[in-house]
Amino acid sequence: MHTITLIPGDGIGLEITKAVTDIFSAAQVPVQWEKQNAGQTTFDQSGELIPQALLDSLEKNRVALKGPITTPVGKGFRSINVSLRQKYDLYQNVRPSKSNAGIVTRYEDIDIVLFRENTEGLYSGLETWDERLGIADSTNRITVAGSRKICRAAFAYAAKHNRKKVTLAHKANIIKMAGTLMLNACKEAAAEFPQIQFEDKIIDNMCMQLVNKPEQFDVIVTTNLFGDILSDLCAGLVGGLGVVAGANIGDDMAIFEAVHGSAPDIAGQGKANPTALLRSALMMLHHLGEHGHADRLEAALDATLLQKEKCTGDLGGKASTSEFAQAVIDNL
Ligand code: NAD
Repeated sequence: MHTITLIPGDGIGLEITKAVTDIFSAAQVPVQWEKQNAGQTTFDQSGELIPQALLDSLEKNRVALKGPITTPVGKGFRSINVSLRQKYDLYQNVRPSKSNAGIVTRYEDIDIVLFRENTEGLYSGLETWDERLGIADSTNRITVAGSRKICRAAFAYAAKHNRKKVTLAHKANIIKMAGTLMLNACKEAAAEFPQIQFEDKIIDNMCMQLVNKPEQFDVIVTTNLFGDILSDLCAGLVGGLGVVAGANIGDDMAIFEAVHGSAPDIAGQGKANPTALLRSALMMLHHLGEHGHADRLEAALDATLLQKEKCTGDLGGKASTSEFAQAVIDNL
């Protein structure tokens, strides 16, 4: 039995975490959940944005499944998602986007795994505002150590999963200093894994290529901001934010969460697709070595995605979040 910290989050987080935990109990997956939350709703109840009890639970269990947490735009508290990633050095944000037989899009045969650096860059939180001069500075801090870790992780993943190519997306032509660190780190990692092809592309060209001919990409590695943007783009290639999973991975802790956010436009209406969080939970099961349970649940999910009428609205169906979860359970 694995004890997992469950962070429901807010917005659609409550609905999709319920769907996933219902599916897990029906499938008798050997996990028990330790529920701890963070964010505005937690602050309103307890006066703490990130309660100590949540941190204690994470430090004890080292594995968590997390729903999205709303971050106020422009003002207010810093992102809790970014804070947790930085606090526990969860430097890899691994986001796979794969074509699925049940989801028709403009593209076929896409199988991309994106490695986003998860703790540095423009998300470092190093920002200053000079009221007098009307100047805002947001520091794009990139370190040699951080670049080496994320680039090596991308190549190690490629080697372990028999992938052929790693593409670095960067802007070293303009952001010469910070951009070059990642380029050099990737060249070092490429020398360590000579069986993996390495290429680098400037981010603007990368966006065009991803929309024009995405099948050419295999593993992508990039900085925090570019990775945030590219992973939503990749989600769009394979069916949207409702279906793509993610994992925040460090050397001794992992927090699994969907790529999408708290979707305030549909929250509380039973419209959210739980596929993205369920796929994140399947990544978690593989991480825990529970491959058999992961494969069984994946087969049930794939069978459900083929039954269009049992899918949620974002996939062209009419089912609610809980009806979709029930359909996955029926397909177990
Ligand atoms: P979003 O990802 O929440 O939503 C973008 C669009 O995708 C919306 O139209 C939404 O309805 C749709 N969508 C997202 N998930 C869906 C699902 N499971 N099923 C069906 N449709 C889905 O992005 P946003 O609106 O830009 O951000 C909302 C909030 O989420 C912000 O406060 C942002 O900071 C936060 N956010 C949190 C995380 C996280 O917790 N890791 C990640 C991204 C954004």
